[in-house]
Amino acid sequence: MQELTHYMGGEHVKGRSGRFADVFNPATGEVQAQAPLASAEEIDRAVQIAHEVQPKWAAVNPQRRARVMMEFVRLLNRDMDALAEALSREHGKTLPDAKGDVQRGLEVAEFCIGAPHLLKGEYTDGAGPGIDMYSMRQPLGVSAGITPFNFPAMIPMWMFAPAIACGNAFILKPSERAPTVPLMLAELMEEAGLPKGVLQVVNGDKEAVDAILEHEGIASVGFVGSTPIAEYIYGKGCSHGKRVQCFGGAKNHMIVMPDADMNQAADALVGAGYGAAGERCMAISVAVPVGEETADRLVAALKPRIEKLKVGPYTSGDDVDFGPVVTAAAKENILKLVQSGVDAGAELVVDGRDFRLQGYENGFFLGPHLFDRVTPDMDIYRKEIFGPVLSTVRAGSYEEALKLAMDHEMGNGTAIFTRDGDAARDFANRVNVGMVGVNVPIPVPLAYHSFGGWKKSAFGDLNQHGTDSFKFYTKTKTVTARWPSGIKDGGEFNFKPME
Ligand code: NAD
Repeated sequence: MQELTHYMGGEHVKGRSGRFADVFNPATGEVQAQAPLASAEEIDRAVQIAHEVQPKWAAVNPQRRARVMMEFVRLLNRDMDALAEALSREHGKTLPDAKGDVQRGLEVAEFCIGAPHLLKGEYTDGAGPGIDMYSMRQPLGVSAGITPFNFPAMIPMWMFAPAIACGNAFILKPSERAPTVPLMLAELMEEAGLPKGVLQVVNGDKEAVDAILEHEGIASVGFVGSTPIAEYIYGKGCSHGKRVQCFGGAKNHMIVMPDADMNQAADALVGAGYGAAGERCMAISVAVPVGEETADRLVAALKPRIEKLKVGPYTSGDDVDFGPVVTAAAKENILKLVQSGVDAGAELVVDGRDFRLQGYENGFFLGPHLFDRVTPDMDIYRKEIFGPVLSTVRAGSYEEALKLAMDHEMGNGTAIFTRDGDAARDFANRVNVGMVGVNVPIPVPLAYHSFGGWKKSAFGDLNQHGTDSFKFYTKTKTVTARWPSGIKDGGEFNFKPME
């Protein structure tokens, strides 16, 4: 049994609390490692180290900080296969999907290479007689991030890349269900030239999270995970005077208009609904066909596609569409919700409950499920299932479909499939959801835009990555300067690089 570590001050450090979490291989159901669960003392030690190194890191000029990101990107590409393998082994997603997880984080590191430009302040020459006014963006100090199991590479990078590029030290508390890749990322950042202690990984659970939220030495907290925990962390973090941004759960609707290309819509739904076993915050979990005839055509197009999906371990290579869910508890919870849908009268068109895979009987596998005639009062509609379960809610009109998406308490992503530009434009303008796709089922914005939901899917006022992240990880200082007289030196003739 492998005992995992923390990564503190540039070293792998054994856990000292005596508490551990089992880390599973979801494909086999075996415990493959134990992750140490940090105590408040261990968090405190990480914060002390961070404070020792952060001022020196902040004093490194932004161009040199950016070069660390440049080298980090090269190392991520070099180690892509190893990172994806470690990720799939703990998460269960297929290898191509695991590479996508690394890639989408890497792209944010690429964006952060632009730190020198992004950190430039504003300047007013001659704001008054002999007066100039300028603002600068300065790092917060020590930032912390608490991340979910479902993107063990991407989401940590979405946080630590901009935080560190801005001159902060960063303490990452990854999911105790998928801790290996975050440890590998910290090693790679150091290999790329980051001074020891600027990025630390402290594994843990609620005890570590509470210690982070209560610690006076931590200026900001980023969180991604389920909505109840997001609300808890936002409230507690803010009440301890921290800058906090929390991203929560989702229930993403895809509206299918009568004029949509039904094959295209069905293909999109299958990928967006079942990819990564539905364990994506941008997964489509609700299809909303407009009109009975559209609904009949959509369900008829979906059923054979879903029945053909191949479920298996990541080791089966390209032959697999999606893998197991993350834990036995997650599987049980999904099965309970499926049963609640059946009990409530929804029509289970594709039933994946009895899925078995020879040789992997103890793995956390589930087949794909498709529900039709789901209604908004049902638990399978109201709750985030986070599994391979797609619900169809039939809407009588476009307005009814729009209202469904708007009335749901979650507002992460949504999509409309149509050939009518006017309907698409109206939808994008009116829907109260943070990320909208037009004939694009999973509209995850690229690194230079920002990512964030509305309603109960996000708490705080700035999004992840893009220019928002540089605002989140810096404070603005504005200087008003007057120089009544100056000292005029002679010329400087040598061309020197910046120190
Ligand atoms: P989770 O909320 O269970 O855990 C997230 C983090 O919070 C982990 O690091 C965990 O250790 C910590 N945590 C868990 N319970 C805690 C508690 N009681 N007190 C303090 N900390 C606690 O989420 P998960 O199961 O790892 O991830 C899946 C969820 O994340 C889904 O709801 C999904 O929609 C959401 N998610 C959202 C986004 C987004 O950007 N909005 C992205 C990815 C995932």
